[in-house]
Amino acid sequence: MAMDFQLTPEQTELQDSVRRYARERLPDIAEHIERTGEPPSAELIAEFADMGYLGINIPEELGGLGLGNLEALIVIEEVAKISAAVAFPIFESCVGPVRAIERFGTESLASAVVPAVCRGEIVVAIAMSEPNAGSALTDLTTRASIDGDSVTLNGNKRWCSGGGHADGYLVYCRLSDDPGAKGIGAVYVEKDVDGLSFGEQESLMGFRGVPSSDIYLDNVTVPADHVVVPAGGFKKLMTAFDLERCGNATMGLAQASGALDDAIDYVQERKQFGKPIVDFQAVQLKLAEMKMQVEAARLLIYRAACNAEQGMPSMLDSSLAKCFANEIARTVTGTAVQLLGGYGYSKEYPMERRMRDGWGWGIAGGSIDIQKINIASALVGRRFNQRA
Ligand SMILES: Cc1cc2nc3c(=O)[nH]c(=O)nc-3n(C[C@H](O)[C@H](O)[C@H](O)COP(=O)(O)OP(=O)(O)OC[C@H]3O[C@@H](n4cnc5c(N)ncnc54)[C@H](O)[C@@H]3O)c2cc1C
Repeated sequence: MAMDFQLTPEQTELQDSVRRYARERLPDIAEHIERTGEPPSAELIAEFADMGYLGINIPEELGGLGLGNLEALIVIEEVAKISAAVAFPIFESCVGPVRAIERFGTESLASAVVPAVCRGEIVVAIAMSEPNAGSALTDLTTRASIDGDSVTLNGNKRWCSGGGHADGYLVYCRLSDDPGAKGIGAVYVEKDVDGLSFGEQESLMGFRGVPSSDIYLDNVTVPADHVVVPAGGFKKLMTAFDLERCGNATMGLAQASGALDDAIDYVQERKQFGKPIVDFQAVQLKLAEMKMQVEAARLLIYRAACNAEQGMPSMLDSSLAKCFANEIARTVTGTAVQLLGGYGYSKEYPMERRMRDGWGWGIAGGSIDIQKINIASALVGRRFNQRA
C-alpha cells in the first residue's frame, strides 16, 4: 500500500472538534492557571473525562475510547497549543504512567486505577528521577522490599510533575539487589498512604500549573499487587516510556504550532511603515522556517505513532521525534516572540509562556543530548556505556 500522509476522516473530525473546543473554552482557563499557578481544576478534568480525552487510547474495557496513540497525540497537540499545563492531565493519562499501569500492572491494580483516571477521579504522576539519578536514571536508589502481601518503599524522588497534587505515583525503584537496570521495577503508590510526604513546590522557568516537587518515601507500605513491574522489567518500563517520549514531543510541538498559528494572524494584522509586516520578506522567511520545522516535527511524531508495534513506538522513532520537536520548540517559539515584538515579550499574551514552556520539554523525559545518544546507539546497533 502506498504511504498515506492524510489523517482519516474520523481523525480529522476529532482534530477539528478538539481544536474548536480548545480555542473557545481553554484560553481563559490557561490564563488563570498561568496567573495563579493552580493546576487544572477538578471541574475541568471532569469535563475532559466526559469528552473521553483522558482515555483516548485506553481500551474500552478499562473505560477508555479504545482509539490509537495517534488519536491521543492529535488531542494533546490541540489542547497543548492553548496551554501545556491544561493538556498535562491528558498527557499523563494517555501517554504517561497510566499506560504503563494498564499494560504491565496486575489486573486488580489496572482495574482500580485506569477506569478512575478515565472518569477524571484521579490523576497519576511518574516519579523516576532522584537527586543523584537524572540522565543516569539507572543509578536510582529508592528501594522496595516485598514481604508477603505487601511491599515497603524507602527513598527520595525529585522533579516529579504532579508532585504533592497527583492522587497516585508510579515510583521507579529497586526491587532486588541486582545492580544497574537489572534491579529496577516500578510500584504504584497512593498519595494518602502513611510515610509519603512532599517537598516544597518547585518554582520553574515555565510549566506554571504543573505542580512539581520532591517526594519522600519513608517506610511506605502498599499491597503487593501495586508492583507494576518487578525487578528486571526496566526494559518494559522504557517501552512504555517510548510512548511518553512521543507525548513529550507533542507537547513541545504544540508550543511551536500554537505559536505559528498566532504569529500568522499577527503578521497580517500588524502594520508598520504603512503595510502589514508580512509584506516584509524577512518576516516571510521566518514564517516559512517555522512552518518547515513544525511540519517536520509533526511528521516524525506521527511516524513514530504509526510505526508502533503492539501499540508502543520504537526507541529510534520516538527519540528522533522527541529530540527534533524539543529543539524546534525552542527556536519556533523564540522566533514567534520576536515576530510579535513588544507583545511577544509581554506577559499579557501567551507567546512568552510558550517559549518558557517549550524549553522544558528538552530537559524533561530525558535531555536532548540523551536522545541523540539513543539515536546514535540505534544507528550502530549497540548501547554506549556512559560509565566506562
Ligand atoms: C519540566 C520538567 C518536568 C519533569 N518531570 C519529571 C517527572 O514528572 N518525573 C520525573 O521522574 N522526572 C521529571 N523531570 C526530571 C527529568 O527527567 C530530568 O531533569 C532529566 O532526566 C535530566 O536529569 P537531570 O536534571 O538530573 O540532569 P543531568 O542528568 O544532571 O544532566 C545535566 C546535563 O548534562 C547532560 N548529560 C548528562 N549525562 C550525559 C551524557 N552521558 N552524555 C552527554 N550529556 C550528558 C544532559 O544532557 C544535561 O544537559 C522533569 C524535569 C523537568 C525540567
